[in-house]
Amino acid sequence: MRYEAPDTTEAAVALLSGEQGLARVLAGGTDLLVQLRSGFTEPDLVVDVKRIAPMQTISAEAGGYRIGAAVSAAQLGEHEGVCALWPGVVEASQLIGSSQIQNRASLAGNLCNASPAADSVPALVAADAVAGIVGPDGRRELPVAEIAVAPGKTALATGELVESIFLPARPARAADAYLRFTPRTEMDIAVVGAGVSLTLDADGICREARVALGAVAARVLLVEEAAAALIGSPLDDAALDALATAASAACRPIDDKRGTIEFRTKVAGVLARRAARTALARAKARS
Ligand SMILES: Cc1cc2nc3c(=O)[nH]c(=O)nc-3n(C[C@H](O)[C@H](O)[C@H](O)COP(=O)(O)OP(=O)(O)OC[C@H]3O[C@@H](n4cnc5c(N)ncnc54)[C@H](O)[C@@H]3O)c2cc1C
Repeated sequence: MRYEAPDTTEAAVALLSGEQGLARVLAGGTDLLVQLRSGFTEPDLVVDVKRIAPMQTISAEAGGYRIGAAVSAAQLGEHEGVCALWPGVVEASQLIGSSQIQNRASLAGNLCNASPAADSVPALVAADAVAGIVGPDGRRELPVAEIAVAPGKTALATGELVESIFLPARPARAADAYLRFTPRTEMDIAVVGAGVSLTLDADGICREARVALGAVAARVLLVEEAAAALIGSPLDDAALDALATAASAACRPIDDKRGTIEFRTKVAGVLARRAARTALARAKARS
């Protein structure tokens, strides 16, 4: 296995697209190293992107933030601007593993590992985040919601990598939240995850909403019916009940030792409801 650590995105793309065998990007390595050690994957080339400056930085852009693909969850949690604008995305990143894991783990790695239970992904999908992709044919953008296509599979073509994740601007009275259920308080995989992002008008009526669920289908679900239940309401009990019903109805979970279909379906509605209440309180505080 060859290990390379280029210092530009272009050099990384050239290495990835020039490899005839199996190539893998290495960011924090908290998924990839486990997979290497267990023999789950045996790449011919590993391209470490931690030395690429734009991938290590968080920059303000068009009222939002561009997060480099190798920025760690710990770095993200210390960024005051991102914490203020997208608290739900940050709280999702702070649930990944432990402090040690968060010192390495990136949002892009969480996304490109393509686990349906990845914690940051429902929050990123609810935020309508966009991945900045670079490949042999140049640059393109893809909504985060479209990156994972199946467990362990992404929409990235050979030679492509994610350079950044863009979190858009948002008006006053807008906020997000993420909640997950695990049997333990940390170091566990989500049995269900729920991300909600919403915007209120001056009268406290919800004008925009996005609801995303993790670990209840083969990929993270954007549940438009659940968002529709919130829009036009002050998020009263009737709207929150409708949200929970729609969230549960969208679930297509697996049945395993960590949670039955019935349990996951029920919990998805409960978590979506609670996340919406947290996002509501945060949005009111941002008026
Ligand atoms: C003990 C432990 C606990 C964990 N707990 C959680 C948890 O609670 N919640 C959770 O969601 N996850 C958890 N994880 C999984 C892991 O930490 C996260 O998925 C993490 O965000 C992965 O980021 P990374 O930078 O380490 O990715 P890496 O391991 O470097 O990469 C992951 C995958 O993405 C690809 N990749 C990485 N960066 C890019 C890029 N820029 N472009 C294209 N492809 C790329 C890699 O090739 C690899 O296939 C845990 C892992 C461990 C070991």
